[in-house]
Parts: sequence; C-alpha cells; structure tokens
Amino acid sequence: MSESLLQVTGLERHFDGLKAVDGVSFSVAPGEVVSIIGPNGSGKTTTLNLVTGTIRPHAGTITLEGTRIEKADSARIAEHGIARTFQNGRVFATLSVADNIEVGLHSTLRASRPFRGLSNIFLLRWIPLLGELFVAIVGTPGSRREEKQVASAVDAEIHRFEARLGPRRDDPAYSLSYANRRRTEIARAMALRPRLLVLDEPTAGMNQSETTEVLEQLLDLKAEGQAILLVEHKLDLVMRVSDRVIVMDGGRIIAEGAPEAVRQNPAVIEAYIGRRREPARDPNPGAPE
Ligand code: ADP
Ligand code: MG
Repeated sequence: MSESLLQVTGLERHFDGLKAVDGVSFSVAPGEVVSIIGPNGSGKTTTLNLVTGTIRPHAGTITLEGTRIEKADSARIAEHGIARTFQNGRVFATLSVADNIEVGLHSTLRASRPFRGLSNIFLLRWIPLLGELFVAIVGTPGSRREEKQVASAVDAEIHRFEARLGPRRDDPAYSLSYANRRRTEIARAMALRPRLLVLDEPTAGMNQSETTEVLEQLLDLKAEGQAILLVEHKLDLVMRVSDRVIVMDGGRIIAEGAPEAVRQNPAVIEAYIGRRREPARDPNPGAPE
C-alpha cells in the first residue's frame, strides 16, 4: 500500500439518493496505467471527478503519495500533481493552441503570482491580484525566468504532437479538428508534469486511425513512466495500454485484474461487453463541444 501513488478507499458519492459511486477502493502505483471500464452510468466519470477534486466525496479517503486530498479543491489537487482531461473535451475556443497549453501552467507559477496563499482569504483576495498585475507590467527576474520555463514547457508539449499541433501552434482552438482539440487538452494536462494523468474517454468521437494515434501516444507516455488513470470505452485500446483494468457497474467495482483476465471474466462479459454489443453504438459519445 505504501508503494501507491494514488490510494482510494471506500469512496462514496450519491446524487439525490442515486449511489453513483458506492464504496470504491483502488490504487495506482507509480508508472502504472490503470483503466476503468464499465457501462454508461456505472460511475466512471464520477470516480474521476472525485479523484481530481471536481466534486467532493460523501465518504472515503483519497491519498496521493501519502497526502490526503479528498477535501482539497481541484486547483490544490492539480498542484499536488494530478492533471486531467474531460469526457467532452474542454479547450478555450478563442485561445491559440499554445495559449491553451499555457493556461494549464498558470496554477504552477510562483514568481508571477506573489501572495497567492492570500487568495483563499476573502477580504485579502485583491492583494494577490494587484501583485500579479505588478509583476505582469514591471516584471521581475523570477517572473522572467518563469516565462522562459513556461515557453519551453509549452514547446515540449507541442513537440509531443508535433505533426498535428506543430503547424497549428498559433491557430485558435475553434479552428482545430475535434481530434486536435483533444490533443491540445492532453498537452495542457501533460505540461503540468503531473504525477498522475487522468483521462476521461480521450478517444470519444475519434475515428479508428485517430484512436490508433492516441493509443501510440499513450504508449509513449507509459514508456516515459507516466502514471495514468484512464476511462475509455474502446476495449482494444484499454487492453493494449493498461497494466490493470477495473470494471465498474452500478457504482461498484465488479472485477479488477490484468487486461486478459478481466476480458475473460464472465461478470464483465455480461455487464459490459454483452450489453454493449446490442446497441453497437456508443450511446454517450464525447460531444465536440
Ligand atoms: P459513467 O461515466 O460511468 O458513464 P457517471 O459517473 O457519469 O457514469 O454517472 C454515474 C451516475 O451518476 C449516472 O446515473 C449519472 O446520471 C449520475 N450522475 C453523474 N453526475 C451527476 C450529477 N452531477 N447530478 C446528478 N446525477 C449525476
Ligand atoms: Mg463518463
């Protein structure tokens, strides 16, 4: 257990009596790729939302490298080292690719954001804002050094998707293809150098060749030692990239193990694969917006 990067224990979250997540426990080790699969509505996104602080659990603990984070907000959790993408994709439409990636880094800046600790104290909130404005206008050696670090982090992430995002670096996100918007979102998350990268259906709405490309990029990240918590409907991708697969149904974990073992588990075939064969379409694809 002490080897865990992320340890989730007894996690619960309900919505008006509906137990969306009902006693979920799992862990992610450093460098491990863990996928959560399961039918629509089984609680996968809610689990990711809890881990990333987007919503709070009603019970349970979440520990990242020994630090309890279940009460922390999403900004604080991002600082602790968990970065995410969203099921439906979220980019700022009018910002360029480079600026979209840079936005993700803002929470990590220190010299450019003096007195940032005071922003949690309501009456003193204007002090960090004035400080930030001062640094933006006047500049300090620390802030100029940070600017360079930010620029090189943005370059490095664009380089990761060079063939796709390189030529589009200064284009506004609204002009991008859907797949490129999702790549921009992954780049923004990776720019934070997260200890844990959390991806919610990164290939939703992508065609086969785009999906294969994302698979290769995930394998590259894995080879770099990046720990990933992935929710994904496309089983082939899940089986190829995961060290371990967790299967959810009705807010609970119904199976967990190595990809091949999970694929052959009868409960999984019934709950997930069997049901999905009938509609043959993803009933909840990630919408382009
Ligand atoms: P999945 O990602 O596995 O498809 P979700 O975690 O999105 O499932 O949803 C699990 C259940 O919780 C679903 O029944 C869903 O309708 C419900 N749910 C999720 N978020 C909310 C919310 N904010 N308010 C009310 N119900 C929600
Ligand atoms: Mg979901």
